[in-house]
Amino acid sequence: MAATSTTSYDAAVPSPGSDVVDDVGDAHAIGRSAASQWLDHPSYGATRRLDLTHRERACSRLVVVAAHPDDESLGAGGLIATAAAAELSVYVVLLTAGEASPFASPSSTRHALATLRLAEMENALARLAPENYLVFLGAPDGEVTTAEDQVAASLTELLGDGRRTLVAAPWRHDGHPDHDAAGRAAATAARASGARLVEYPLLAWTYRSPDELPWQDVRCLALSPERQEQKAAAIRSHVSQVRAGAGGSGSTPPLPGRVLAHFHTPFEHFLEEPTTDQASQE
Ligand SMILES: [Zn+2]
Repeated sequence: MAATSTTSYDAAVPSPGSDVVDDVGDAHAIGRSAASQWLDHPSYGATRRLDLTHRERACSRLVVVAAHPDDESLGAGGLIATAAAAELSVYVVLLTAGEASPFASPSSTRHALATLRLAEMENALARLAPENYLVFLGAPDGEVTTAEDQVAASLTELLGDGRRTLVAAPWRHDGHPDHDAAGRAAATAARASGARLVEYPLLAWTYRSPDELPWQDVRCLALSPERQEQKAAAIRSHVSQVRAGAGGSGSTPPLPGRVLAHFHTPFEHFLEEPTTDQASQE
């Protein structure tokens, strides 16, 4: 079967066995996950806060894992900007170059698209954290699952002693095979290194309904207007994904406005598995 590549919302097909939805087209048709529905949910922006400076678990390094260029800005752009402002070291580990985007022009090659999207990624990160370390692992777009063990090993090596590190990765249950594999690999690496792991939804905002999120495990990060603008600028830097016809042949960009609306809000949300310690504090 054709691989589901990049964060291509209109063309995305949930992974085999996924419990997201049976028919992605229907999800749009019934509009079950418009941004307004999430914003109206009582838990949106009202969960426990994501605390980077907790006394006993203060972090000195943020490592953001992205399956495709744009995952980092959409799901964790505010977190990256917040961490940079707090003088944490910021690392971004990009698994694929997003080279298999189905929206690429027929005349453009995978190599050309990869080059374009990597440059967009660098521009985006410059908006969020001018001092950053971008690590590109070169896994195949649409087939991260096939490289999951190597990705986990590379992440584990990069993390080293992770006890003062916060890792943010796509949610393991996001519903896109590359995102899910990235989340699982990050979880393996975080466990091995002692790092704290939080996971960010991407596709789930569009294809799940608000009642499906395990809100008790969600931590939210409030974004100041300045952080929101940094995040918006980073998202705009992914020109091939947000501008119709910029990197593709269609009139609808890979990330249309109704999808972007989920990411232009005053909050970012992250899932964190409760530790025994946290559970006893609840
Ligand atoms: Zn993605």
